[in-house]
Amino acid sequence: MFTNKTTFKQAFVDSIENKLGKTLQEASGLDIYNVLGHLIREYIGKDWMHTNKEYEAQQEKQIYYFSMEFLIGRLLGNNLLNLGTLQLVREALQELGLNLEEIEEQEHDAGLGNGGLGRLAACFLDSLATLQYPGHGCGIRYQYGLFEQKIINGYQVELPDYWLQKEYVWDIRRSDKKVGVRFGGHVISRELNGRMVYEHRDYEHVWAVPYDVPVVGYHYHNVNTLRLWSAESSQELGSYSNPADQNYYKFLAYSRSVQSISEFLYPDDSSYEGKQLRLKQQYFLCSAGLQSILRTFDKSGLSYYHLPSKVAIHINDTHPTLLIPELMRILIDDKNLGWEDAWDITTQTISYTNHTTLSEGLEKWPVHMVKELLPRIYMIIEEINERFCHLLWNLYPGQFNRIAQMAIIADDQVKMAHLAIVGSYSINGVAELHTQILKEREMKLFYEVFPQRFNNKTNGITHRRWLMHANPKLSNLITETIGHQWIAEPEQLIRLAPHAQDSSLQEEVARIKQQNKRKLATYIERNYPISIDPTSLFDVLAKRLHGYKRQLLSVLHIMHLYNQITDNPSIDMLPRTFIFGAKAAPNYHLAKKVIKLIHSVADTINRDPIASKLIKVVFLENYGVSLAEKIMPAAEISEQISTAGKEASGTSNMKFMMNGALTIATLDGANIEMQNLVGQEAMFIFGLRSEEIAHYNQFGDYQAKLLYESTPSIKRVMDQLILNSPYTRANNDFQDIYNSILKTNDEFFVLKDFDSYAAAQQRIDAEYRQSRSWLEKSIINIAHSGKFASDRTIAEYASEIWDTHPVPVHLARVHS
Ligand SMILES: *Cc1c(COP(=O)(O)O)cnc(C)c1O
Repeated sequence: MFTNKTTFKQAFVDSIENKLGKTLQEASGLDIYNVLGHLIREYIGKDWMHTNKEYEAQQEKQIYYFSMEFLIGRLLGNNLLNLGTLQLVREALQELGLNLEEIEEQEHDAGLGNGGLGRLAACFLDSLATLQYPGHGCGIRYQYGLFEQKIINGYQVELPDYWLQKEYVWDIRRSDKKVGVRFGGHVISRELNGRMVYEHRDYEHVWAVPYDVPVVGYHYHNVNTLRLWSAESSQELGSYSNPADQNYYKFLAYSRSVQSISEFLYPDDSSYEGKQLRLKQQYFLCSAGLQSILRTFDKSGLSYYHLPSKVAIHINDTHPTLLIPELMRILIDDKNLGWEDAWDITTQTISYTNHTTLSEGLEKWPVHMVKELLPRIYMIIEEINERFCHLLWNLYPGQFNRIAQMAIIADDQVKMAHLAIVGSYSINGVAELHTQILKEREMKLFYEVFPQRFNNKTNGITHRRWLMHANPKLSNLITETIGHQWIAEPEQLIRLAPHAQDSSLQEEVARIKQQNKRKLATYIERNYPISIDPTSLFDVLAKRLHGYKRQLLSVLHIMHLYNQITDNPSIDMLPRTFIFGAKAAPNYHLAKKVIKLIHSVADTINRDPIASKLIKVVFLENYGVSLAEKIMPAAEISEQISTAGKEASGTSNMKFMMNGALTIATLDGANIEMQNLVGQEAMFIFGLRSEEIAHYNQFGDYQAKLLYESTPSIKRVMDQLILNSPYTRANNDFQDIYNSILKTNDEFFVLKDFDSYAAAQQRIDAEYRQSRSWLEKSIINIAHSGKFASDRTIAEYASEIWDTHPVPVHLARVHS
C-alpha cells in the first residue's frame, strides 16, 4: 500500500477528501489525525487477519495476559515505528506541509491504568508481538480512564478522562463475539444420574462486547490482539417503554447498573457499593475473557485435557484471580468434568505475577459480598479452600495457627492472593529483591508448601517506545556508534561500554541531552508561567504519588537546600531544576497534601530572586505516558527513592537509565540489579537497606521524634511545615504531613534517610561539575540498560513460565 511517499500521499489526500468531504487545507488538526489513524489501522487490518489465521493453523500455544489495566498511551507514532513506515510517513507528510509530531499530539492517551502495573502490561504486549509470540491482552474498555489531573491553587482536582469522546480510531467492535456474564441470583443443586448439577437461577444477565485493538510487532512481525470488554444491557427498552409499567423503572435501574461495569477504571471504593462494583468488574473481565478463550480453543476439536498445552493464562496481580474459580465452574458445570480433572487443568493453565507486598495491595473481599454477587463462584472457592486446608492439615497436623493464616477464606474474607497461589502453577515476583522478600517473608508459608512454583522475572520496558520513539536522536547516535543490532537485541547496547570514554561520543551524548532539555524547557515555558534554565541540572521525580515512593523526602530536601541558600546567598551550589510529575489517588488525603506542599515550595523558591537562580521547582500536571515520553529524554537525574523493600521493581528507573540519566536510589526493587550492572560509581546509592527497615519494624526501635530533636537541619524543615513559614501562609495545610512523621512515627523512614539522601545529593552536585566522567557514567548506564528491555522479560516468561514458542507470520506488508 505505501510502497513510497507518492502512493502514501495519494492515499492520504484521497482519504481526507473521501472521509471528510474537505480539502487538505480545510482539514483541522484532529481531522488529519483521524484520517491518518484510520488509514494506518486499515493498513494493519490484513496483517492482523493473516496473523489470526496463522495462529489457528499452527495450533501453537496461545498466551492470554489478563490485566485490569493497560496503560497504552498513544498508538499512532508507535504503530508507524513498528510498521517500519515512520520515516516514510514523516517525510511524505512534510512534503504536504504537515508535521507528524504535531499530528501525534492530537491523540488522546488511552489511560486505562494507574501506573507501573498497567504500563508493564502495555510494554509486554509490544514485546509479545515483536518476538512473534501468539500473546494477547485481555482487559476492560473503561469509558473513563484514570482521571485528568488539574492543579488549582496548588491542589489536585480530578476531572473525568473521557477519552472516547473523540472517536477512537484503533479499535474494532466485534458484536458477533459478545458473550453473556451472570451476576447475583441463587444456585439450586441436585443430584442427576449420580452427579451433582448446579443450576443458576434469577441472575442478572449482562452482555460483554469485545473491542479489539491490534498490537503491531516491530518490523515484519505479527499483529496480536488486545481485547477490551465493554458491558451492555441484554434487554432492550422495547416492552418496558411505558413509564406506567413498573418494569420500566426496573429496566432503567438495570441498564444503569450494567453501564457502570465498564464505566470507570477503579470506581471509588470507599463505599460498599463501590467495592462491590470493583468485584463486579473483575468477574466481568474474567468470565468474558475466559468464555472467549474457550470458544477459540473449542475450534481445535481437542479435549479439555489438552487445554494446558494449548493455552496459558496469566494474571497481572490478583485482580483477575476469579479466573481460577471461573475456569473450574465452566469445566465442571458446562463441560461435565470431575473436580480433580478440572483442578489439574486449571492449575496447569494459570500463572500469577505478584506486584506488591504492601498490605493495602493484598485484595480481600467480604464473604457475603462474593456470595451475593457470585453465588456459584463462591461455592467453588469454598471447596478449593476446604481441600487446601485439608492438604495443609496433612502436612502440618495440629498447627491451627499456620493453617488459619494460610486459608483462602478466613475472618469472613476471601483472600485473593492465597487463592491465586493455590490455583496457579507459577508465582513470580518482579525483581530479585521482591521475589526474595516474597519467599522469605510475605509468602514464606506458601513458599514452604510450593517451593517450585516461586520464581523471579525482573520487569522490563519496551525500548521501542521509551528509546527509539521518545528519543530518536539518541537512538540514531547509538546506531551510528555500534550498528543497528541493538534494535532487535537490546542487550547489544552493551557494545557502547567500550566507547564510554570516547570524547567524541561523550560530546554527542551531551549535545543530544542538551537539545532534549531545551525541548522540554520550551514545553514547560509554553504551558506554565515559569522560565527554565536549560543548562541547569534536570532532576526528575515522576511516578504515582505514594507515601512509600517518598516524594516527601525530595521536597523536604529542597526546603533544606533553600534554607542553606537563605543562610548563605553566595553558596556554591550547582543550578538545578527539580521536575515532578505525580497523580495522587482521589481519596488519598496525605498524598494530596504532598502535592500541595510541592506547589507551595515551588511558589516560594521560584519567586525568590536569589534562590531561583539556583533552584527551580516545576510540577507537571497530569502525568501519563505521553508526558513521560517528553520527560525521560531530558532527565539527567532519576529519583528512585522509595523506602527499601516497598517498591517491587519500579520501571521508570529503567526508562530514565535507557535515556542516559544517572540514578539516585535506595537499594530497592530493580535498582539493586541496576547497581550490580553499572557498579557503585555510576549511581548515587543512599539510605537504609530493606533488611535494616525490616529490623526496625520488627523491634520498633526507630523513633522519628528523637531524630527530629537531635538534628537541627531536620527540625528546621519539619517546623517549617507547621509554624509560620514561607510555605504555610495563613492555613494549616501541612499539619497532617507533620503528624504523619512525628506523631505516627514516620512509617516510611523519611527522616531516617534524610541525611544520607542529602549527602548523595551533594555527591551529585560535585560530580556533575566533572562533565567528562559524568558523561562516561551516562554512557555506561545506557550500555547496561538492555537487560531492562521487556523483550528479555517476555522471553523469560515464554520459556520459563508459559512454555511457548514464536510463531513467525510472513506478512504481506511491503516496505520501502
Ligand atoms: C513507567 C510509568 C510508571 C511507573 O513508574 P514507577 O516509577 O516505576 O512507579 C507510572 N506511570 C507512567 C505514566 C509510566 O510511564
